[in-house]
Amino acid sequence: MAFLDQHPGIGYPAAAGLGLLIGSFLNVVILRLPRRMEWQWKRDAREILGEPDIYEPPPPGVVVEPSHCPHCKHKLSWYENIPLFSWLLQRGRCRHCQAPISIQYPLVELLTAVLVLASVWQFGFGWQGFGAIVLTCFLIALSGIDLRTQLLPDQLTLPLMWLGLIGSMDNLYMPTKPALIGAAVGYLSLWTVWWLFKQITGKEGMGHGDFKLLAALGAWCGLKGILPIILLSSLVGAIVGSVWLYARGRDRATPIPFGPYLAIAGWLVFMWGDPMIAAYRQWAGLA
Ligand SMILES: [Zn+2]
Repeated sequence: MAFLDQHPGIGYPAAAGLGLLIGSFLNVVILRLPRRMEWQWKRDAREILGEPDIYEPPPPGVVVEPSHCPHCKHKLSWYENIPLFSWLLQRGRCRHCQAPISIQYPLVELLTAVLVLASVWQFGFGWQGFGAIVLTCFLIALSGIDLRTQLLPDQLTLPLMWLGLIGSMDNLYMPTKPALIGAAVGYLSLWTVWWLFKQITGKEGMGHGDFKLLAALGAWCGLKGILPIILLSSLVGAIVGSVWLYARGRDRATPIPFGPYLAIAGWLVFMWGDPMIAAYRQWAGLA
């Protein structure tokens, strides 16, 4: 690790390559994890309702099964599976059936590579940088899944929170106390908003996954990060949401997932929270 710190000419390209590889794995998680969850829910529901157990073949697992073209089922060989470059070389089409390949693949790969680079640039090639990469990957997977399915799986939000808390035991970014209180306050703050909204309007304006995601971000950013994350995510959400509604012309009841905004705000506060808060205080004349 010290070697990579002293030789950024090797460290940064290695980080970018690693980011592309992780991004290609995150694509698989984003596509396959929700299908796997839905399959399990259906099976559990049949059991609870006492319905006969119909055999449904399980959807492909996240880790083991190889990638294939969703259109012609052709299994991808290694040179068709190189992150970013295969998509560019094949001009976004399957080599066999010419079916278009979603731009989600290269976008997630590129985004992951850029954010992994930012993580090591900010925190270096040590445990702090490694932790930042882990957080970044979870947030990309959660955002992608929320955008596609309006779900924030417990399988991702809860481990992310535990990892943040475990890291704080060794004082990775902060001591345990602010991390633990951050997680609790993160959960309770959005839960309170949800509860009040429900009492007043009788509707549920937010999913429970959002509370758990903010709890996880509290474990990584600490108590002092919670308010900036809420403000920043609401701001980004309001801007993107209005543009989206204006462009799509949908009615206002269309659910727009809040998870990606929380993830973006949480990531920014984790990376540059202190300078951001200092700049805000100066701007507001509080310094
Ligand atoms: Zn194909």
